[in-house]
Amino acid sequence: MKITPIKLSFSNAYLLTGRKTVIVDTGMPGEEAKILRAAERAGVKTNDIALILHTHGHVDHAGSTAALVKTLGVPTAVHRADEGMLRTGTMRPLTPLRLEARLILPLVNKPFPPVAPDLLVDDSFDLSAFGVEGRILHTPGHTAGSISVLLPDGAAVVGDVMMGGVMGGNLFGSRPNYHYYAEDLRAVHQSLRALLNAGVQTFYVGHGGPLARADVEKRFAFIV
Ligand SMILES: [Zn+2]
Ligand SMILES: [Zn+2]
Repeated sequence: MKITPIKLSFSNAYLLTGRKTVIVDTGMPGEEAKILRAAERAGVKTNDIALILHTHGHVDHAGSTAALVKTLGVPTAVHRADEGMLRTGTMRPLTPLRLEARLILPLVNKPFPPVAPDLLVDDSFDLSAFGVEGRILHTPGHTAGSISVLLPDGAAVVGDVMMGGVMGGNLFGSRPNYHYYAEDLRAVHQSLRALLNAGVQTFYVGHGGPLARADVEKRFAFIV
């Protein structure tokens, strides 16, 4: 199992490669070519891409999905609670957690090409049918339908349950921090606890990262 982070304009996408490859998240609209180039560089053949999975339904994680589906013809998956955002290409209102979040809101609050997801995933969803050893953990809070992908050796792709650093993850990217937005902060804390309880050692986040378990435990010491 190989994890290939793809640093996009605003967020990270990931390739999970076992017998086949799963794309996790697709960046902002117009980033499909960057993702396909990254796959090529990683030695992934387009025929081996089996699924596009979304950690949640925000524009910077689902923006290029419609374009990738057109090129690749693969199924797409999202948690039921975020399905509506993909179907309509609009986000539920973002609740800023700090000033920086309020300032960037006009930049991120954009519509995106909608896509009808083929699969609705929850905790029972296993990626082995798509050639990857991994399973889903529902980790709501940032959005109601946020999920994480638990992978071998304590690795996990966790989306926006938290982020690395500040300035979109460009500064101090390995320092765990709250994300800019959360629909339910209490649920974020519960989800962080669930990820730690699941034994996650390395957190691959949607912005910045990756984050080490010891740093996450220190930053969020009050919840563990
Ligand atoms: Zn998000
Ligand atoms: Zn994001």
